[in-house]
Amino acid sequence: PTSCRPTTRWRARRVADRVVAARPRPDLLQRLAVQTAEREQAHLLRRLRTIEQAEGPWLQTGGRRMLSFCSNDYLGLARHPQLIAALTRAAAQEGVGSTSAHLICGHRAGHARLEQALAAWTGRERALLFSTGYMANLGVLQALLAPGDICVQDKLNHACLIDGAKLGGAELKRYPHADVGAAARQLGSRPGAAALLATDGVFSMDGDVAPLRELAALCAKEQATLLVDDAHGLGVLGPRGAGSVGAAGLGQHEVPLLMATLGKALGCAGAFVAGPAALIDGLIQFARPYIYTTAMPPALAAAALEAVQLAQAEDWRRDRLAALIARFRRGAEQLGLPLMASTSAIQPLLLGHADAAVAAMQALDAQGLLVSAIRPPTVPAGQARLRITLSAAHEEDHVDRLLGALETLRLPRRSS
Ligand code: PMP
Repeated sequence: PTSCRPTTRWRARRVADRVVAARPRPDLLQRLAVQTAEREQAHLLRRLRTIEQAEGPWLQTGGRRMLSFCSNDYLGLARHPQLIAALTRAAAQEGVGSTSAHLICGHRAGHARLEQALAAWTGRERALLFSTGYMANLGVLQALLAPGDICVQDKLNHACLIDGAKLGGAELKRYPHADVGAAARQLGSRPGAAALLATDGVFSMDGDVAPLRELAALCAKEQATLLVDDAHGLGVLGPRGAGSVGAAGLGQHEVPLLMATLGKALGCAGAFVAGPAALIDGLIQFARPYIYTTAMPPALAAAALEAVQLAQAEDWRRDRLAALIARFRRGAEQLGLPLMASTSAIQPLLLGHADAAVAAMQALDAQGLLVSAIRPPTVPAGQARLRITLSAAHEEDHVDRLLGALETLRLPRRSS
């Protein structure tokens, strides 16, 4: 009987433990220090930069005022006076912290109002707030998936989608970027299993938009549930900024699981999942990153509500951003720079080797421009890049300054 097996395994483990007891245990902190040193030797160490002051795209760091092209404040809302006023008003009325998880006593009327506004904006029945986007993806995937299921994902999906599938215990298969045929074959390999297909709407390091309509058709055919992470699309794309899913004309029926964040185009922090009422009811019961964490500060919810209203109403922000993106791409094309196929606010220049990306970042830094070099393991080896992001807070003159600086660098040029 199966009941013998764990006991047998447990005995074997105790014997094995006794055998190795004479050896000292590996020191975990030392092992981590060795891994960090190896990363430094490979020139891949991630370094923390402290920003001393922030004023729109102007950041002060190391005592120097720099023009930034690395924030995700795509609509320029992070410093909007109406957001600041809403935040301070709510903090004065309700205090700073929410004081507990949503299910205890942290769920305030401001959270509920924000959830209603997000559901209405995205055309979904309901929405549920999470403290971060990372937790939202962990929560939705952990709550829905179970061992024996299959979770099919684009290879370039954000790390938290990958981690969420692992947390759910499903079999994880990753298809080559945007390859709908490969996704179909992966789903087809497990015909009887419950299946979830997850994709970024706009890819965070490439800036391109997922083939959402094709993926939705595939999911309908394969009876798989589609999850779109629209962290970089909400506010930027689609009618009234409803995101990449809205731009593709896909409703709740085709994309039942929609996740997006409040920390990028909306200029705040936090995230939400939107979809059918049954999904939200289930997440409240089973999504551990929702249940066991402190609710976002109510003042932040008040600021985010203001941001949602502005993002919907002010098309000029999207128009301005689109014009800046077009200006940048035109200029970069004229210079023959290695642009990627992106129409979003994320405009990477593909440089290849990590050292080339770091050298370019440092050369721009010397000219007062802050651009981040993205290296493995965040992107595949050989695909290091400068991740340039544009914002409605930029001026045309800022874009020209960036192009002027890029022209002076020895970057790989496209042969035309
Ligand atoms: N999804 C994507 C596609 C992202 O780019 C990010 C943020 N880097 C997240 C999720 C996580 O969101 P948050 O920063 O709110 O945790």
